[in-house]
This record gives sequence, C-alpha cells and structure tokens, in this order.
Amino acid sequence: MRAARTEGRGGGREIYGGLANDYIPSDFPGSSNPMTRSYLSRPLAMLGLAGLLVLQGCAPMAPGKAGLDIDTSVSARSQGSRVRFIVLHYTVSESPRALGILSQGEVSSHYLITDDEPPRIYRLVDESRAAWHAGQSEWGGYTWLNRSSIGIEIVNRGPVGTAADGTPAWQPYRPSLIRAVKALVRDIAERHGVAPENIVGHSDIAPLRKQDPGPLFPWRELAREGVGRWYDESVAQALGARFAAQGLPDMASVRQQLARVGYAVPPLEAPEREMRAVVAAFQMHYRPARYDGVLDAETAGVLAALVAASGPAGAGDASAW
Ligand SMILES: [Zn+2]
Repeated sequence: MRAARTEGRGGGREIYGGLANDYIPSDFPGSSNPMTRSYLSRPLAMLGLAGLLVLQGCAPMAPGKAGLDIDTSVSARSQGSRVRFIVLHYTVSESPRALGILSQGEVSSHYLITDDEPPRIYRLVDESRAAWHAGQSEWGGYTWLNRSSIGIEIVNRGPVGTAADGTPAWQPYRPSLIRAVKALVRDIAERHGVAPENIVGHSDIAPLRKQDPGPLFPWRELAREGVGRWYDESVAQALGARFAAQGLPDMASVRQQLARVGYAVPPLEAPEREMRAVVAAFQMHYRPARYDGVLDAETAGVLAALVAASGPAGAGDASAW
C-alpha cells in the first residue's frame, strides 16, 4: 500500500514555492504598493513608469487585481491540468430536487445530467473550480479528491426496493442518459488528459460510505467505447478458472492488487466489513453480477487481469516530477 498523498500537492516536488511573489517587480513605480511608492519622488516615479513601459515592449500584460502587471508572454512547457479524476454519482432524488440541492445546498457537482428526454446537462460549477461532491475519499494514493476531480451527478434513484433474492433492486439507467454520460466524460477526459483508470465511481473512492453509481452503471459498455479502464476478459476467465481449481490467492496479495489498481485498502486491524466493502466496490465496477464483497475465483481472476493490464506501478505519472 502506498502512502497517501494529499490532493493539491499531487506528490510533486514544489520547486516554485514563493517564487511568484519574488518575481513581481514590487519596487517598480507601477506597483500600487504604498510602501514602495512613498520613497519615490513623483517625477522619478513618472520616469520609472515610462522606462517600464519601454521595457515591456509588446509583451501581453494581464492586470492583476492588486494592480500588479503579470507578464504572460512566456508559458512553461511542463504543465498539466489540475483535474486528475472524474467521479460519477447517482442523485437518488429526481431532477428538480437534485438541481435544487446541488445548486443551493451544502453539496455540489460540476455537472448534473437529468433524466429528461433528451437528457439535459447542467454545468453548475466551472471546471476550474472545486465542487463538493467527493467528501472523504481516496484513489491511487490521492486523498480528498474534491479539488482534483470533476464530479458528475446522474439522475437515478439508486436502490428502489428488494429483488426476489433479497438483494437491493436498482433503477436501470436509460440508454439516452448513458449516451450523454459517455459523451460528457469522453470530452472532459480528453480536455484534461484524465487517465482511464481515474474515471471512477463514488463507491470506488469512498467504498465504506457510498454505493453510487451502483451495480447497474454500465462501466463495461463505456470502457468498450474508450471511456474508462477495463481488462482482457479472456485473461480474467483463464485466471479465474485457475483460482477455482487451485485455490484463491491469499489475502495479502489481494490487498496489494486492490491497492495497485487504485483502491484504498483498510489497515489489517480494521473490522472485516471494511475489506468486504472495498471488494464489493471493486465488484460493482468490474464484476457486477455479484457484489457481496466475498472474494470468489471470478473476482480474483478479474482483479489479477486488471493488474496485468495496468502496466508497471507509477507509469505515466509525469507530475511525480
Ligand atoms: Zn455520490
């Protein structure tokens, strides 16, 4: 299990700390800082201002709120979006109520997709800002994902009763709704460079508290169209058959594999139900036919196949530098 990294820090080395303030030529007459102005006589200040204007040439200058001139003519090659994750939810409530809660309440999401026909997509929070949709959460070693994610709420009731076998019955997602989700997630992922494994459900990042978007959310269908992560099903089947014949992998390696594919694994001394909740979240996403949190040969096969498809640990995470 990797050590948790808090969002915002992103695991990167912050070599720029304090540099921004140092860079601003605050002792230039153009500054609005009264402390620096006070020791300049007015004519000298005028002369300085003229000199500054010549110096600037035609570099684009963006006026800051504090009256600072920010030179935006040079852009760093090494940069990326702050958006690392896309988190999908169901609302439980109907469209009008969901819209009210998400726009006026203590929680919010960047997008709300209604179950109108055709679905309406509201953007309630600008993508450059944080929405309060994830709460206490962890994925791939990153914690508290509100600031590093885009949240999408999908109008769906979630559990709507009890099925014949005693498990919850879930409201199905309408195809038009799924088409809208797919198009929106694809667009966001492309614009922000979100990795397929970082397109997740609320239950993936908070398995002890959440079940949304639920076992009927068609992760497989999305992944087959290039949205999100999946695994080689024939590999999963072969591995599952092997586990069925030779016995399940030990819990230590299962814990390691779950962490490897992104899940926050509870400490060894945690109550057993916590580990079950994590396995159930994994099943809901990758093997939803049964999601009781009991590791069976098929689940172990899917997990091992997913690890095999995930490549070496830490690959492609350029921001780690
Ligand atoms: Zn949620």
